[in-house]
Amino acid sequence: MMFKRQDKGKRLKKWLFIVLSVLILIPLTWVLFTKLEGEKPFIKLSLQSRIVPADFEITGSAADRKSGIKKLWISLLQNGKETVLLDDEYSAMGFLQKGAINQAPIKLNVNAKKMNLSDGPAKLRIAAWDHSWRDWWNGNQTYIEKEIIFDTNPPVLSILSTQHNVAKGGSGLVIYKLSEQCTQSGVYVGEDFFPGYSGYYEDNEIYLAFFAIPFDYNNNTDFFVKAVDLAGNGTRSGFYHHIRNRNFKTDTINISENFLNWKFPEFIPDDGFPSDKSSEDKFVFINKELREKNNHTILQNGQKTQSRILWKDAFGRLPNSARRANFADHRVYKYNENVISNAVHMGIDLASVKHAEVPAANGGMVVFAGYVGIYGNLVCIDHGCGLMSIYAHLSRMSVNNDELVAKGDIIGYTGISGLAGGDHLHFGMFIDHVFVNPVEWWDSSWINNNITSKIDTVQAMVQ
Ligand SMILES: [Zn+2]
Repeated sequence: MMFKRQDKGKRLKKWLFIVLSVLILIPLTWVLFTKLEGEKPFIKLSLQSRIVPADFEITGSAADRKSGIKKLWISLLQNGKETVLLDDEYSAMGFLQKGAINQAPIKLNVNAKKMNLSDGPAKLRIAAWDHSWRDWWNGNQTYIEKEIIFDTNPPVLSILSTQHNVAKGGSGLVIYKLSEQCTQSGVYVGEDFFPGYSGYYEDNEIYLAFFAIPFDYNNNTDFFVKAVDLAGNGTRSGFYHHIRNRNFKTDTINISENFLNWKFPEFIPDDGFPSDKSSEDKFVFINKELREKNNHTILQNGQKTQSRILWKDAFGRLPNSARRANFADHRVYKYNENVISNAVHMGIDLASVKHAEVPAANGGMVVFAGYVGIYGNLVCIDHGCGLMSIYAHLSRMSVNNDELVAKGDIIGYTGISGLAGGDHLHFGMFIDHVFVNPVEWWDSSWINNNITSKIDTVQAMVQ
């Protein structure tokens, strides 16, 4: 019996030991794994630029996956003076991590004037702690520094060119000088932005901005040069200008069943071509939706321009050709005596002999040679600083992308590809993303009065 009781007591002790161990070990392990976690908080900051304006926002977050954020501290140090921008504490987690702030957002406004900060460098200091029991209950800490530079002054913008007489649908040039490096500068004609390009003059702060006045320009449109520096400070300046009105012709074009049946097969592969609809619907699709899409494709090439002038003297036109249609002609399309569609013609139609050689109108670089819907086979040449020329309805193209061409080089042959009824060249020009009247660029006295003399006057001024 004695032996048995002793045995029972031993077993009880053993069980008690196991139960107690479990009762202590589990929380201890939990404490070790959770309360003493060693994962540091993570700080994410988004600053638009290292160079900051007088008033800006710091956004980002401090995150801690495990025990949560305990404290977040942000300051700005400049010339030995420290300004605390943020000093926040966050509650600890309760049982099962409830209440822990795993991600604390950062959204701070910094105003240099209010905070008495001056232009020049400053140090942004950020520290975050978590609720870990490490480091004698101080928590894991992450500390980062970021150098920023205050630039509270907008750039100074001086317009160097004087006369700006531009016709509706025409081209213009503004020459201006900036006082500092800018991320963006150029001419605004309403919502239309035409970037300026530096590098023509030895002084890299002088810019040439070619701009277009859309054919449908409205006289109340805002008109100015704008520059934005690296910190985001902007300046705008108006400039003396005179817009000449122009009236555009209206033409009626009769569409025949024969023409449609001849042309439709070329457009069947186009996205959205209404194969199962009437001839009228098919034509309206080609003339409206496809025309818009094709114009967009052409004008996108404006982005590929070089920041130097690749052309010289007047632009050439197709030799021995007759003009069949003008820039910005308003066209009304009739089918079976009914008006079914209208469009604006954004170039000039020139007819010569069939498959006539097409010379490059001026020096430049081929930025596109391919098929573009209603324009058929098309070559686009960049003449620099946003000025481009296009040659459409070609039967054959004899140049490739990135090929440099001189004025007069044969780039292809006239034809009837696209929405063309007879062999002709559709010649167009555009600045950045707006079609302009090519007639001006064919005219050497217009070029001299409006472009080259301006460039030369500024050259003489800055020498
Ligand atoms: Zn045309």
